[in-house]
Amino acid sequence: MSVKRTRREVLRGAAGATALIATGGLNAGRAHAGVAEYDVVVVGSGAAGMTAALRAAKLGLSAVVVEKAATFGGSAARSGAGIWIPNNQVILRAGVPDTPAKAAQYLAAVVGSEVPAARQQAFLAAGPAMISFVMASSPLRFRWMEGYSDYYPELPGGLPGGRSIEPDLLDGRVLGAELARLNPAYIPVPEGTVVFSADYRWLNLALVNARGTAVAAEVVARWVAAKARGEIPLTMGQALAGGLRAGLAAAGVPVLLNTPLAGLHFENGRAAGVVVGDGTLMRARRGVIVGSGGFEHNLAMRTEYQRQPIGTDWTVGADSNTGDGIRAGRTAGAALDLMDDAWWGPAIPLPGEPYFCLAERTLPGCILVNGQGVRYVNEAAPYSDVVHVMYDRNSTGPHIPSWLIVDQNYRNRYLFKDIAPTLPFPDSWYDSGAVHKAWSIGELASRIGVPSSALRQTVTRFNGFALAGRDADFHRGDSAYDRYYADPGVRPNPCLAPLWLPPFYAFKIVPGDLGTKGGMRTDARARVLRADGTVIPGLYAAGNASGAVMGRSYAGAGSTLGPAMAFGYIAAGDLAAAM
Ligand SMILES: Cc1cc2nc3c(=O)[nH]c(=O)nc-3n(C[C@H](O)[C@H](O)[C@H](O)COP(=O)(O)OP(=O)(O)OC[C@H]3O[C@@H](n4cnc5c(N)ncnc54)[C@H](O)[C@@H]3O)c2cc1C
Repeated sequence: MSVKRTRREVLRGAAGATALIATGGLNAGRAHAGVAEYDVVVVGSGAAGMTAALRAAKLGLSAVVVEKAATFGGSAARSGAGIWIPNNQVILRAGVPDTPAKAAQYLAAVVGSEVPAARQQAFLAAGPAMISFVMASSPLRFRWMEGYSDYYPELPGGLPGGRSIEPDLLDGRVLGAELARLNPAYIPVPEGTVVFSADYRWLNLALVNARGTAVAAEVVARWVAAKARGEIPLTMGQALAGGLRAGLAAAGVPVLLNTPLAGLHFENGRAAGVVVGDGTLMRARRGVIVGSGGFEHNLAMRTEYQRQPIGTDWTVGADSNTGDGIRAGRTAGAALDLMDDAWWGPAIPLPGEPYFCLAERTLPGCILVNGQGVRYVNEAAPYSDVVHVMYDRNSTGPHIPSWLIVDQNYRNRYLFKDIAPTLPFPDSWYDSGAVHKAWSIGELASRIGVPSSALRQTVTRFNGFALAGRDADFHRGDSAYDRYYADPGVRPNPCLAPLWLPPFYAFKIVPGDLGTKGGMRTDARARVLRADGTVIPGLYAAGNASGAVMGRSYAGAGSTLGPAMAFGYIAAGDLAAAM
């Protein structure tokens, strides 16, 4: 594969790498260590960047991807790789009753007026074409995440059966030696299994539900079959990033690792390249597409833009996402949007790495309480919403941290992170203070410093709701979305079970995130805009380096990757058409 070439070799071989360019922009007057020239320079090898580079190459442009990390794939490689794209060919073939009108109605209802309608429409129009393009241009194939409800299925146009897809099994051998440079998964799939994102719903229930048991057997059978074929099975983000990378390799697009964007290069007011860490100018005849992710690991930016308390310890985004592209854009005059927001989700600050809670927070037999021992939100609400409420309420009383309270009955039934039901949690979880255990609710309350009587009252009230099957306070279980990570065996409401069997456990809950969602303001063509609405010529942004088309919301599973890939696709198409 051509990907074995080193960065130096690629630079030497690049067309037009002859002269030092006199710049009129950020790097004016600076001597460059070398110059390489392409039609398009893409910054970042995540979902947005690799999709953009692939499309640029397929449209006949010479493209290069510069990547800061020693691995490719960014957060996309770490992710579950749910992708929310209405009306894509995979869901339509599976019989999902979607239409462009329904999707437009739903997105408008979810996002509201904060994001211009033209951008929403551009995303919906390009999304299905992008998925078809990726399938035609890479080894990636996709499967419907059946039943993974849109996050607000009751809104007009919402689909309780969901519109999300994820990568099908990818054989890692397509990457050759480059497989070793794939950014690892956040939580690797256990050895001896092949797990898709959509399986987690059932794996949580493996001990208590026949379908759960069948899926547990299936993930092992898939692995045995893949190994018998001699494959290296990749799923989720590993498959997504691996598949895009294989597409780039086949299209002859170099991905230069350890090559950080250091500054944007302008000629006559037009973005005409980037300067990378060693001073090399990567000149771009047509333009630059910034796909360098969010700023989740930049403490100064988080402190400057976001609500307190915040830090860089609670995010699960890729370490290398430190907002470099956003800062370069800001210096070049880009307006920034949504910088105070993120792809939030309640997280447990486990030692070593935070744990982003999904099913654990919504399965029956748990409640989320604030520092007063009182419930304040529907635990099963979309994860971004739960953290928005945490921050909103924290200004009037202690909500950060909150506490997830569960009983032993819950613990006997469900997987928790990767700890099988009934098994003890690691000592390090207790030692770090992230988890506490006690034989009564009152004792648990004292351990976590919340009023005992309040927590006891909260549990008693909630247990009444569970027995009645109706959460009169926060309506947990009313939405089809709430019931996705639930237990169909629990009646009358699969989201509600009483907490009664000691011991009881409390997990510290903080505002975690999958990455930030604020960045450069872009238009429907992914062109970067100044505050006055004018375009910065030649400069494009997609993914978490740009302000999200989802605004402050989250339409369905895959609302970050779907738009990141769609706007990467749009940016490259626009650059190709521009001249
Ligand atoms: C554990 C986890 C699970 C997730 N699950 C899902 C999911 O199921 N569905 C979903 O939609 N989203 C999910 N997300 C979020 C999603 O992965 C990200 O929002 C998405 O990858 C953003 O795409 P991106 O291309 O903007 O950034 P990334 O994929 O993070 O890529 C950015 C790249 O830019 C590189 N970079 C940074 N700075 C520079 C620089 N100066 N020069 C060159 N390169 C640079 C980074 O190293 C990185 O490789 C998940 C995230 C995580 C961490």
